[in-house]
Amino acid sequence: MVWTEKEGMDVEEDIRQLKGMVEKSHRIVFFGGAGVSTESGIPDFRSSGGLYSQKYKYPPEQVVSHTFFISHTEEFFEFYRDRMMFLDARPNAAHEKLAKWEKEGELLAVVTQNIDGLHQLAGSRHVLELHGSIHRNYCMQCGKFYDAGYIKNAGGIPHCECGGIIKPDVVLYEEQLDAQVIRESIRAIEKADMLIIGGTSLAVYPAAGFIDYFKGKYMVVINKSATVRDVHCDLCIQKPIGEVLGQL
Ligand SMILES: [Zn+2]
Repeated sequence: MVWTEKEGMDVEEDIRQLKGMVEKSHRIVFFGGAGVSTESGIPDFRSSGGLYSQKYKYPPEQVVSHTFFISHTEEFFEFYRDRMMFLDARPNAAHEKLAKWEKEGELLAVVTQNIDGLHQLAGSRHVLELHGSIHRNYCMQCGKFYDAGYIKNAGGIPHCECGGIIKPDVVLYEEQLDAQVIRESIRAIEKADMLIIGGTSLAVYPAAGFIDYFKGKYMVVINKSATVRDVHCDLCIQKPIGEVLGQL
């Protein structure tokens, strides 16, 4: 088929261009969203498959809100364990490549909207987690730390030994992003000579507004579907991020 052949050639050309940009850049910042983790088998919790809508009474945006956490704590944890904690997930080619670039001194930071900790598992060290992490959990009463395994295996509402409820350190709807993480993310993006945006439709604000701070040379968007930013970028590849970075 002519169309498929043409598409194949376009992708090859895109990869070649991307490779050239990466080689010329030494302060890469990666800004990633849910699409980075889907290739590791972690679905976007907002996606509502058939099974999902049968099982839960409330829409995901409502469940993952501060109000819901306070008022329906047990239902929150049922959803959270089921749809947001994937402790067996492994890093994919995107995570691996970014960790490698950091080790080689070519990447400044990974700014992520994901909470799964897969970048760190792949070896990345400077990871700015805008929405927190499932791997950090704190007692709301005494502040004692608990790991993800404890939350996953505790039945119902996870409690601290002091009796307090343990809350995951993830940013729920209606909650503020961490001011320090925001500052560091903006600083990294301002310093970058290349910004790769991957696996996000850039629909989630205020995080998506951060990329306006970029003053560097190459802005690349790699996402399965078109994003609102595609018009402004130097290169835009409509493919899964792991598939693309894995080819570099
Ligand atoms: Zn406690």
